[in-house]
Amino acid sequence: MSTHVVIVGAGLAGLRTAERLRRGGYDGVLTLIGTEAHPPYDRPPLSKALLGAEQTPDLPALRNSDRLAELDLDLRTGVTATGLDPRAHRVRLDDGSELAYDQLVLATGLTARAFPQWQGIEGVHVLRSFDDCLALRASAANARHATVIGAGVLGSEIAATLRGRGAEVDLVDALPQPLHRVAGDEVGAFIADLHRSHGVSLHLGRTVAELATDEGRVREVRLDDGTRVRTDLVVVAVGASPVTDWLESSGVHLDAGVVVDDRGATSAPDVWAVGDVAAVPNPRGDGTIRIEHWTAAGDLAATVATNVLAALGTGEPRAHAEIPYMWTDQYDVKLQCLGLPCASDERVLLTGSPESGAFLLAFVDDGHVKAVVGAGMPAALMRCRAAVTKSWPVTELREAAPWERRKATA
Ligand SMILES: Cc1cc2nc3c(=O)[nH]c(=O)nc-3n(C[C@H](O)[C@H](O)[C@H](O)COP(=O)(O)OP(=O)(O)OC[C@H]3O[C@@H](n4cnc5c(N)ncnc54)[C@H](O)[C@@H]3O)c2cc1C
Repeated sequence: MSTHVVIVGAGLAGLRTAERLRRGGYDGVLTLIGTEAHPPYDRPPLSKALLGAEQTPDLPALRNSDRLAELDLDLRTGVTATGLDPRAHRVRLDDGSELAYDQLVLATGLTARAFPQWQGIEGVHVLRSFDDCLALRASAANARHATVIGAGVLGSEIAATLRGRGAEVDLVDALPQPLHRVAGDEVGAFIADLHRSHGVSLHLGRTVAELATDEGRVREVRLDDGTRVRTDLVVVAVGASPVTDWLESSGVHLDAGVVVDDRGATSAPDVWAVGDVAAVPNPRGDGTIRIEHWTAAGDLAATVATNVLAALGTGEPRAHAEIPYMWTDQYDVKLQCLGLPCASDERVLLTGSPESGAFLLAFVDDGHVKAVVGAGMPAALMRCRAAVTKSWPVTELREAAPWERRKATA
């Protein structure tokens, strides 16, 4: 009898799980359910090339229709899962039907946080989906001035792209530097200088008290220090929440995401989670953490596909071991990060300098390398992978100086 694997969430992690299952030899029924009307597409371009493009962009599909067909999926777009009964192994859908599964993978990602009091105000946007991107582009086309609220990775990127489109931009954040929560003072100051050098006005350590509107359209942002910024467009980039509301009565353990073990297994039998929605064991300490990065979504999907196949009787299960990696493109700078930096880590400059625009900075805990953040040195950063993966003493990484040795022999 044929088996049935159901994947809820037709984004990057859901698609990668399906690809890995097929590549691993799974030939049963494979259902991929997605709320959005679109086939699986890529999100990183939404805040970069697509937002900045002159012409209305096409969907950045992860596979074209021929390559999608090769996966032989029962792809259901425009369909939302509304409930789960793990005992009965059934998922409820918003069309009133139910799907029985042998193995279920949860890949529902995140939803952008918004301020409910600003709902319905014209010119106020979030950016998570392709449709959000089209709506934001339409507003940006007529905007002389944009205000971005939130100077994390996404907000900072949006500010840079809107500036690149020619808008005047103000960037507001409650923290003392952009990207502060992830990468601390030095990287934050580097990104802040980058914005200033491109003419973006920063309001750091500030929050937005209120928005003033004119005929339902945003016209002014008022900050907590009394500053008033005339604006035509507001982008709220203050983080995102895991999409788990539909699982609340399922009994699956939720804690700021779907809690999984090191195999990607949830607390319910035959139910797994991948991608941004998964709260994985924190490699830096107790509890769990959501790693909201593109590469991590594919890495965990590969592990979970292996473990789903093992549960169905093919191959051996395995634990997830990859270190996180992320990048962000701002203006002409690519900032990258290997590992999980903590703002409380000691920072050791390995090479270059933020002033020159090219550097590698180690994040060190108790003398050991936990992460390396770099700008303008993509190949050199990757040569630090072993040091981060094995948490070398920082003295050893400095002695090995893999970035210099390879350069000399190149
Ligand atoms: C604008 C933007 C730029 C980014 N840039 C970078 C970058 O430069 N570098 C980087 O490392 N990472 C970046 N990321 C993060 C990266 O894109 C995510 O980590 C990745 O998309 C996670 O994939 P996912 O499949 O877990 O979630 P998603 O891609 O969000 O997919 C989840 C899907 O599930 C669907 N869904 C939700 N609930 C249900 C339901 N109940 N039923 C059915 N379907 C449901 C959603 O509609 C969505 O389509 C960016 C993200 C965004 C939004």
